[in-house]
Amino acid sequence: MGRVALVTGGSRGIGAAISKALKAAGYTVAASYAGNDEAAAKFTAETGIPTYKWDVGDFDACTAGIAKVEAELGPVDVLVNNAGITKDGFFHKMTKEQWSAVIRTNLDGLFNMTRPVIEGMRARNFGRIIVISSINGQKGQAGQANYSAAKAGDIGFIKAIAQENASKGITANAICPGYIATEMVMAVPEEVLKTRILPQIPVGRLGQPEEIARAVVFLASDDAGFITGSTLSANGGQYMA
Ligand code: NDP
Repeated sequence: MGRVALVTGGSRGIGAAISKALKAAGYTVAASYAGNDEAAAKFTAETGIPTYKWDVGDFDACTAGIAKVEAELGPVDVLVNNAGITKDGFFHKMTKEQWSAVIRTNLDGLFNMTRPVIEGMRARNFGRIIVISSINGQKGQAGQANYSAAKAGDIGFIKAIAQENASKGITANAICPGYIATEMVMAVPEEVLKTRILPQIPVGRLGQPEEIARAVVFLASDDAGFITGSTLSANGGQYMA
């Protein structure tokens, strides 16, 4: 197939599962990350997928990083905007730093990563923009005004991008995961998981990173060419948007 996929935050958690699934589906994959060199090196050793370090919040770093990926692997056909952070706190206690850090990585990162690839996709008449949003961008979450705002922003973003680029063979879609069994969620005490989290999920379990990855592979495929501007909920029935 020869298509190139770039996954931000692609060396850990959900992003690592996405990178591996795209590779298994035949893509040439690049995984970016922020600073965890040890995890990135381990990931590359295990998978053979090259990793690239830059901050998605820094537009110039994204432009340079994407240029390096494209010089080494070829033009980016599939961009998976997965990198994200949380800095939780109730809004009446939230600092400007907590707000800005989350908006910068989760929302500015979308502009910074998508802007450098979109013109090439338009010129080649093919592209897939996939954003990993969150259930909390759909329903809001107490303690996460910053994260909920950024993740809701993902959804508005893909709808606008979908409209602007539909005639150029480019689709833009968001996936909204619920609770996924990554390091972050598995760090929650088991008692809290059993008594407070699992009862909210009708299927009665956490999602697996691979379940998000399979949805990404589908949205990236030619088979999904008629799906654009959509928001796919992957949350075990916790919130039916
Ligand atoms: P992890 O914390 O496990 O991994 C985050 C990845 O993003 C890491 O590779 C990290 O790099 C990278 N990253 C973070 N900040 C930056 C930055 N400024 N520039 C470049 N890369 C960055 O996250 P998850 O796998 O749990 O989450 C992945 C996505 O899914 C996020 O957008 C998250 O909001 C979303 N999500 C997760 C859910 C869950 O239950 N886990 C539920 C709903 C949505 P490094 O390795 O260098 O730190």
